[in-house]
Amino acid sequence: MVPISIKEFVKQYERRNKLFNDHEMTESLKKVAKIRDRGATCRICGSLIWAIGSAIIGWNGCFTCITGEVDDSDDYEVYLSSRNNGKN
Ligand SMILES: [Zn+2]
Repeated sequence: MVPISIKEFVKQYERRNKLFNDHEMTESLKKVAKIRDRGATCRICGSLIWAIGSAIIGWNGCFTCITGEVDDSDDYEVYLSSRNNGKN
């Protein structure tokens, strides 16, 4: 996963998706990133959840169960602590 700040992700998401509420998205991302950090698991397979995907689709899932793909090396993930933030 490629680390990205919530702020930066919402900005990028906004560019690609005209119809969405950036405040709502920010709040969902924060909420899901927090429960992931506490160990929330995918409701299908039990792996650690993917916060961005879970925030967008509205249920707790891991990268593979949400996208059907195994390789997550090119995909973003948001982190709350600045320690894990590549940017910002
Ligand atoms: Zn899963």
